[in-house]
Amino acid sequence: MKPVVHNRQSFCGRALTAFVVLLVVCSAGRSSAADVFASAAKLRSKYLADIEELAQWCEKEGLPDEAGKTRHALPPHDPTKLYLPVLPKEIGPAKPSADAPAQEAEWQTRFSRLRHNYAAAVYEIARHAVATGRAGLAFELVLSAVEADPDYEPVRRLLGYQKFRGRWRTFYEVRKLRGGYVWSDQFGWIPKAFLRRYENGQRFCGGRWISAAEDARIHHDIRAGWTLETEHYRIRTDHSLEAAVALGVKLERLYRLWAEIFIRYYASEADVVAWFNGRNRPQVANLFRHNVVYLRDRADYDRSLKAILPGFGTEGIYFHGTAYFFVTPDGDDRTLYHEATHQLFHESRPVARDVGGRANFWVVEGIAMYMESLRQEDGYHVLGGFQDQRLYAARFRLLHDHFYVPLAEFTAYGRERLQSDPRIKTLYSQAAGLTHFLIYYQNGRYRDALVQYLSIIYSGHDDPSTLARLTGANYKDLDQQYREFLAQGGTETGSEQPKAEGVGRGRWTVGRRASPLPAPRPTNP
Ligand SMILES: [Zn+2]
Repeated sequence: MKPVVHNRQSFCGRALTAFVVLLVVCSAGRSSAADVFASAAKLRSKYLADIEELAQWCEKEGLPDEAGKTRHALPPHDPTKLYLPVLPKEIGPAKPSADAPAQEAEWQTRFSRLRHNYAAAVYEIARHAVATGRAGLAFELVLSAVEADPDYEPVRRLLGYQKFRGRWRTFYEVRKLRGGYVWSDQFGWIPKAFLRRYENGQRFCGGRWISAAEDARIHHDIRAGWTLETEHYRIRTDHSLEAAVALGVKLERLYRLWAEIFIRYYASEADVVAWFNGRNRPQVANLFRHNVVYLRDRADYDRSLKAILPGFGTEGIYFHGTAYFFVTPDGDDRTLYHEATHQLFHESRPVARDVGGRANFWVVEGIAMYMESLRQEDGYHVLGGFQDQRLYAARFRLLHDHFYVPLAEFTAYGRERLQSDPRIKTLYSQAAGLTHFLIYYQNGRYRDALVQYLSIIYSGHDDPSTLARLTGANYKDLDQQYREFLAQGGTETGSEQPKAEGVGRGRWTVGRRASPLPAPRPTNP
């Protein structure tokens, strides 16, 4: 198998839009870094107090809806979940209408000003953080700024957005729009002149217009399937163009969040500083896209994948540089996010030939199981939480069954060792639990170390002691802290056996046989 090696520079260019959400808990560093922390914390608590004060003012003035909206400006507080703002495309906020009651107009003005001022102040601290070499912290602050005010232009620009025809657009979107394309939720990016005919049931295929039915017949076989390109993905499907578009939207969402969370996986501190300074902003060009094959149903998938993995019933797989999925009627996206996460870690920078082959394989799966939990709650993208089925299984195995393989032993398991273990399902649950622990324990004390851990494993420079070195803790202590973390949600685990556990959904493989299906080919443009 050819090692997956991609041009790092081009990825870094695309990752310009990324920002980090790591609540970096730094070891004591330069005093200037401590100043940055102190200033940011002070500013945040003032912001929280101001929001609450405004909400109370609304209540006093008889504006309960506005009070709710004001408080909703802050993400819900749950230290076992990660909240990432859903960035609106619309440029706002709307100006108060001329006939709005005076109090309502006053609320709107005060609310906007408060958020804008906070975003501006946080952004200044972020710039200072970059200057003191704390790029990770800087991007956490940037997130905080854009969450408060999604229209704060310096931050939006930093994240790769610009105002274009009345909306916030990425550079890629602007290029498509300027090229005469429009986005259709049904058909994806399509020449504007085609849209009406597509909506009327015609399709452009092989240089001529045909009916949708004929188009479907032509693309019925996956080898002649539709190819859809989104900003970062190339999807081939034999289901329908519409299904590929829906899949592309989900994958692009995962891509953006992944790039935010794991920025230091694929970018150096210097890269981050350079983007922050924004002088030579790389243009979106020279894109490579992640290949995905999307089969029409389970039977089609099994038939197509039989040649790759005879005897394995998977529900999705990342194999040989392509991720394979099938259209599921229930719309469960966990397998999708799991395998697509493997793909992003594998293809976003040069990686070793045999990732996790000798040791530390658990976290390769653990992080994919963590990303399975992606969903939307309350206007935020959310990851993790004690209610997630993977964490439920981890808690059940530890607290109910008393099953646990100490880290000193677990970190020494390579891929074969783990995947051939008869306890594989419970080991996967433990891997999911440990990953959650490293992300959330004590407000993210080990979160930075986890990203570095993944980075070293994917580079092939890891050994069983790597995690202890990066966390600065010995494995016995980490075992104990893990236990404490899982017990936080109460020692009761419920009596129901975990519903979803183990690897049944997909299976990590780097494979050695060539894929029986051709990878999607580029389309024009
Ligand atoms: Zn996996």
